[in-house]
Amino acid sequence: MSEDFFQGYRGSALEVLKKFNVRVWGQAVITTTRGNFNGTVLPRAVNDDDKHIVIKIVTGYNVGIDTDTILDMTETGYKKANYKIPEKEFPFTKNLPKVKLLGTGGTIASRLDYRTGAVIPAFSPGELYGAVPELAEICNLSTEKLFAVFSENMGPEQYKKLAIAIGKEIENGIDGIVIGHGTDTLHHTAAALTFMVQDSPVPIVLVGSQRSSDRPSSDAALNLMHATTAAGHGDIAEVLVCMFGPTSDEYGFLHRGTRVRKMHSSYRSTFRTIGDTPVATVTRKGVVPIKPVYNHRRKDNKVKILPYFEEKVAMIYYYPNMQPDMVDSLVDNGYKGIVIIGTGLGHVNKLLYPALKRACEKGVAVYMTVQTLWGYVHMFVYDTGRDLMAMGVVPAANMLPEVAYIKLGWALGQTNDLEKVKELMLKPVNDEITPREPYNGYLIYQGGVREVEEFVQKVRK
Ligand code: ASP
Repeated sequence: MSEDFFQGYRGSALEVLKKFNVRVWGQAVITTTRGNFNGTVLPRAVNDDDKHIVIKIVTGYNVGIDTDTILDMTETGYKKANYKIPEKEFPFTKNLPKVKLLGTGGTIASRLDYRTGAVIPAFSPGELYGAVPELAEICNLSTEKLFAVFSENMGPEQYKKLAIAIGKEIENGIDGIVIGHGTDTLHHTAAALTFMVQDSPVPIVLVGSQRSSDRPSSDAALNLMHATTAAGHGDIAEVLVCMFGPTSDEYGFLHRGTRVRKMHSSYRSTFRTIGDTPVATVTRKGVVPIKPVYNHRRKDNKVKILPYFEEKVAMIYYYPNMQPDMVDSLVDNGYKGIVIIGTGLGHVNKLLYPALKRACEKGVAVYMTVQTLWGYVHMFVYDTGRDLMAMGVVPAANMLPEVAYIKLGWALGQTNDLEKVKELMLKPVNDEITPREPYNGYLIYQGGVREVEEFVQKVRK
């Protein structure tokens, strides 16, 4: 640690603020051993340590400043943020569809950056209407907060509860469902719901936002408008993910719940369909399908809810020199299913073979997917692949690794019969395995907006 690190005032965040007479919500100029900062002092979040002062700088980003580095602080102004969203009664408009928003948490549910600890969930219909009044022109919205978690805390329990809640809404005659969700594991939940809620008569649209609504570049409002449009007016009655299409706010994409993945840690256009095209684009004017075949909206209230999940399933990402104890420990700990994310066409090193053989012999369901994400597992090409298959490792075609993990949990939740598990795994519910990838789709999706546009035009013809 450098010498100058300790030149600053040493004390807790509160002591430092007191010493320099700066208040929380004060606009402060801060001189540190590492340069000067200017921003609003934010309240401390529950999980923050007391050795940092967090300020919001003009770009909207939050910066944590180590109190040990602070040399001086001056308060130049004071402006307490208004946490209260004006609650307005969500108006009822005859002839607009009824949409239910089920909330699970994530950035989309927070009004101010959640890292400040100053989270207020914009969630009741009145709060949402206050924040995004355009929603009232799209649908008659009702809301229910099922969970308030960041999506890394979603799991089988929540998937099952969500599936059951969706079933109830459908039976009660809702026209469309929107699920507010953190973006990090949105695609896991989308896959889980695709398997747990089958033959839905209405769209089930998962939506999140990459940037909280206090940021000028937030995608929360637009994503919500697109998601409610797709849920209330769209004809695609499937589990879909609705997020930014291009990097600009021209349109959203609707992705099939089994083919979608978060591909960028900060872009708003982070969700991409892998191995296929998105199902449709959506603007506030409506949904425009890209794929010609999809499940159409129906008038009945029938749906199949299959809320099963075996939790003793794991996913292992192969890396060179992986040791067999990685596999052995899963088997010894009673895991019933393993999804391997293999290299290239679906490979692991020879070291693992005896461990995988033992796993298969002990009745563990072992499936192979690929790290490349695009393309298929091909285990017939090399001897090694054939050897793995002979041991009982099952190639999972072009199923995305996370989807294979979720599907294996769902399949093993229903049966221990490995033949039945295999049948369930390899029979697609909704395109988790496709017969082929779109021509040049992989190349084009690595490009920018223009290429995507050209591709979308070509596919539409
Ligand atoms: N960590 C957050 C979550 O996934 C991020 C987000 O909501 O976008 O819940």
